[in-house]
Amino acid sequence: MAEVVTRLAAAENTRVTREECAVISLDSVTREYAARCGVVRALDSATFSIVAGEWVAITGPSGSGKSTLVNLLGCLDRPTCGVLKIDGVDVAAMSAKELDRFRADKIGFIFQQFHLIPYLSALENVMLAQYFHSMTDEAEARAALEKVGLGDRMAHLPSELSGGEQQRVCIARALINNPPILLADEPTGNLDQANQKIVAELLQQLHAAGHTIVMVTHDPEMAALAPRKIALNHGKVFCAPVRGVVRLQ
Ligand code: ADP
Ligand code: MG
Repeated sequence: MAEVVTRLAAAENTRVTREECAVISLDSVTREYAARCGVVRALDSATFSIVAGEWVAITGPSGSGKSTLVNLLGCLDRPTCGVLKIDGVDVAAMSAKELDRFRADKIGFIFQQFHLIPYLSALENVMLAQYFHSMTDEAEARAALEKVGLGDRMAHLPSELSGGEQQRVCIARALINNPPILLADEPTGNLDQANQKIVAELLQQLHAAGHTIVMVTHDPEMAALAPRKIALNHGKVFCAPVRGVVRLQ
């Protein structure tokens, strides 16, 4: 991805379009479900792109299509029609097995319910993600937990951690394999205010460090932190306009 952007920048005098350097791009992406009462169009012809380093909040009322969109962006599902590209690759062309590998490389998931393994320590939970991706590296896993402020909690089981600490383990786990995209689904949905603040600050730090974050949230305070908002209503996407050209250093 970085080389493509560099080449494009050189060719176009350091100016490239958003579409050309998008890490996520949707072109008329529709997802329909067959329901008993007929076809439900959960996502209706969505067209937008997200470039490296953006922090985007996806908001919308219940039933508006947020989970449908997250499942597509996380390569857990495929569009009914339209083109979805993640890091320049059209996901429709991949087999289920290829998609599993692709997802492990490209997406770090941060879930509302944490989904930590209860009988593994914080360190082991992070190392398990390394194991499923390629191979374990304890020093790297320790460094990832230190980075999220859990250097003194590595041996703790999830039940011995606060909600905010558990979510920070999830963030370390999401980052451990260096994915280009962090996909967060209601990352503070299960947290009290103090822990929400801690996680919000961590996301702010990750954004400042250049990570690409796509975050679904019901919470206006969380949404306000993200510089870009994408609103969904009845499956339709409403994006505030963004500049079409990216200037690179
Ligand atoms: P949100 O996450 O914003 O609450 P969803 O993406 O879950 O919205 O759902 C969008 C619409 O699609 C809703 O009308 C929902 O009932 C419908 N829907 C979601 N999943 C399915 C499914 N598997 N089968 C049928 N309809 C579905
Ligand atoms: Mg949902």
